[in-house]
Amino acid sequence: MIIAAREAVDLLIQAAGSWQFDDTLHGLRDREWMALRFLARANRFSRTPSALARVVGTTRATASQTVKRLEDKGYLQRQGSDQDKRSVILDVTPRGEKILSNDPITQLVDAIVKLETGAKNFRDLVRNILEQLDAPRDRHHADNCRRCIFLTEAASNVTREQQTFSCRFFRANLSESEIDLLCFNFERREGVAFPA
Ligand code: SF4
Repeated sequence: MIIAAREAVDLLIQAAGSWQFDDTLHGLRDREWMALRFLARANRFSRTPSALARVVGTTRATASQTVKRLEDKGYLQRQGSDQDKRSVILDVTPRGEKILSNDPITQLVDAIVKLETGAKNFRDLVRNILEQLDAPRDRHHADNCRRCIFLTEAASNVTREQQTFSCRFFRANLSESEIDLLCFNFERREGVAFPA
């Protein structure tokens, strides 16, 4: 059993490494692809240079350099935050969305879609592994709201279409589409998640 587990880890590392490269692809380094990919799926609280630094595991200065390069290429634009005039929110531009169709992880995504076990089952397996790694290090990976301790239903006497949610941490309402976006501040809820 332990040998199969070690082999699985070796294979996971090789699969994850498929998006890493020394040079550039379509003019972007692997870290820049990682940043653009995250920002395209991140919620409004996570589309900031400091959240990006936390998610990609780098310094704020390095994350700011990455953001600058992506802005210079026209893949990102910044807007002022309504809540805090000193902070900015980073939005992926239509040009950025277009370049993401060449994302080096696409082959990996396609391979997972074809898995007999099903993409959702594979996702849950990997999530389970990540959660086991998070606990002893007292950290949380970025994830969506559905399994976060801070998510609450804002109203109970409405239909599913009308239902809204709120975040107790950021003290903000969330639409249903927002709760499927990635958040740097995610903290895992024990037990049942909000259904996907
Ligand atoms: S509920 Fe959790 S994951 Fe969602 S915005 Fe709030 S802190 Fe982030």
